[in-house]
Amino acid sequence: MKGLMTDTPLLITGLMTHGIRAFPDQEIVTNLVEGGRHRYTFADAGKRIAQAAHMLTKLGVREGDRVGVMGWNTHRQFELYYAISCIGAVCHTINPRLGPENAAYVMTHAGDSVVLFDNTFAPLIGALAPHLKTVQKYVAMTDKANAPSGVPADTYIYEELMAGQPETFDWPELDENTACGMCYTSGTTGQPKGVLYSHRAMVLHALVTSLPTSFGSDSTDCLLPVVPMFHVNAWGVPYSTFLMGTKLVLPGPGMDGKSIHDLIIEEDVTYSLGVPTVWLGLLQYVSEIKGNFGKMKYTLVGGAALSETLIRGFDAHGVGVRQGWGMTEMSPTGTVNNETPEEMAKPLEERIPIQLRQGKPVPFIDLRLVSEDGDLVDHDGVASGHLQVRGPWVLSDYYNFDGQTLTDDGWFDTGDVSVIHEDGRMQITDRSKDVIKSGGEWISTIDIENTALLHPDVVQAAVIGVEHPRWLERPLLIVQLAPGKATNPEDIRQFVCGKMEKISWPDAVEIVDEIPLGATGKVLKTALREKFKGYVLPELRDTSKKNTDMKTGTEGENAPRKKGFSFFGLGRKK
Ligand code: ADP
Repeated sequence: MKGLMTDTPLLITGLMTHGIRAFPDQEIVTNLVEGGRHRYTFADAGKRIAQAAHMLTKLGVREGDRVGVMGWNTHRQFELYYAISCIGAVCHTINPRLGPENAAYVMTHAGDSVVLFDNTFAPLIGALAPHLKTVQKYVAMTDKANAPSGVPADTYIYEELMAGQPETFDWPELDENTACGMCYTSGTTGQPKGVLYSHRAMVLHALVTSLPTSFGSDSTDCLLPVVPMFHVNAWGVPYSTFLMGTKLVLPGPGMDGKSIHDLIIEEDVTYSLGVPTVWLGLLQYVSEIKGNFGKMKYTLVGGAALSETLIRGFDAHGVGVRQGWGMTEMSPTGTVNNETPEEMAKPLEERIPIQLRQGKPVPFIDLRLVSEDGDLVDHDGVASGHLQVRGPWVLSDYYNFDGQTLTDDGWFDTGDVSVIHEDGRMQITDRSKDVIKSGGEWISTIDIENTALLHPDVVQAAVIGVEHPRWLERPLLIVQLAPGKATNPEDIRQFVCGKMEKISWPDAVEIVDEIPLGATGKVLKTALREKFKGYVLPELRDTSKKNTDMKTGTEGENAPRKKGFSFFGLGRKK
């Protein structure tokens, strides 16, 4: 028997209507690309969203059209998120850090007909424009006084187009499965692939992530997304903001420690979201200036593994840390790690191992672990497996993609390797392409990196596998030191060895000026693998020693301990 409820579609338009109606006086504050700080209310934003919808319609944008947006977190991009989607078009957020070739590829692959961009990216757009065959119109997201040069001659100016447009719009009632947005994966493992979001998925994701048990805040909070709106919808914050009625603070182009810290203090930020590299930079800045975090209560860390250093760093300032895990293909939220009141009452030392877990799945998301052979793996906190997911905001297929996206039984393989603890919390041990296979054991690069970050002189750490004739692969730890430090690599190695099981001891430590970061602010291991291609571990440089070791089977100082000796890792008990 079917229920007798009205079949009202779940549309982003509904989120917007609610925000404006319930919290008209709440504020949205932006650090402008042109300099200075802009502020207006949800009610003002609603009027501007309607104006933007008229602007887009006059530019010729119709239902189903893809509209490219390359911009920082600003009120203008916020307006476009709603205006584009609510007229039935697709808001394609473009990551400017993809590099020119990939940026041109994604705009062409998506078939963007109009592209709006911030002034920062004018040189990039100017250079790419001759190659962007699908793009008919460009709009610089600024005012006349700040019109950029070097862009196509007929580039429009956002504020000029907005001026005088009506402040209401007759929004269409779309099917809830209509596409509303689009984001491409960062392409670290091949060409970027397009993920096409729907209204229904975004509304459900916003509802679930607004729960107190996810990263929910309320109208007394002030939210600062340091995660960019050009990648995975800034974790859905532009949508959940209207739902939760929180004050929204948008950092514009200022993603450095000082700019973020100024905003936190001056705008009374209570809750912030970002990737670990951003928080490491901020903590470093705050310690340099001997500052504090003002009213900040919580930070949500995701996109890469949370480290003990970050937990301790924030704890020292009385700021709580929650970890979230997800990916572009999951809109992005899959798990959030919340502590129970009992856990929160425990001393920090006991809480850290809990906080290092990526958390329990949020409502409607299912997780499972699968072994190399395709068998299901126990959720016992010991056995690891390929992490697969399903749920209403997990993609079913990539956009215009020739290939299989889901498993035959409808799950998405995340490319992550993890365990699931008996308490239901999932813990990532690695990405399947990063894990190090050494003498029949699987070594977690995340564990070694997090241990290295505990060294007071280390600000960034990355581990890659390098060839070893006997163990197949061994870990090479690459670190970036804090400014002015000249620590000996061997001291860092000894420090890490003193805290880990022998199997995970890095065989060598190399110091670099800067660990490369990718398009989403995460460590770019592909670049490090390229840089250290053919790297010979110190113990192998002396070939006579190596030959003796190989012949006699004597374990050298750095050789791994063989535990249990089970080939090859996944699904086995550690
Ligand atoms: P890409 O960086 O390839 O574009 P995403 O931005 O979608 O991809 O990132 C997804 C990946 O980021 C996940 O599959 C996982 O490997 C990693 N990731 C995200 N959150 C966490 C976390 N909290 N801990 C560890 N890894 C994470």
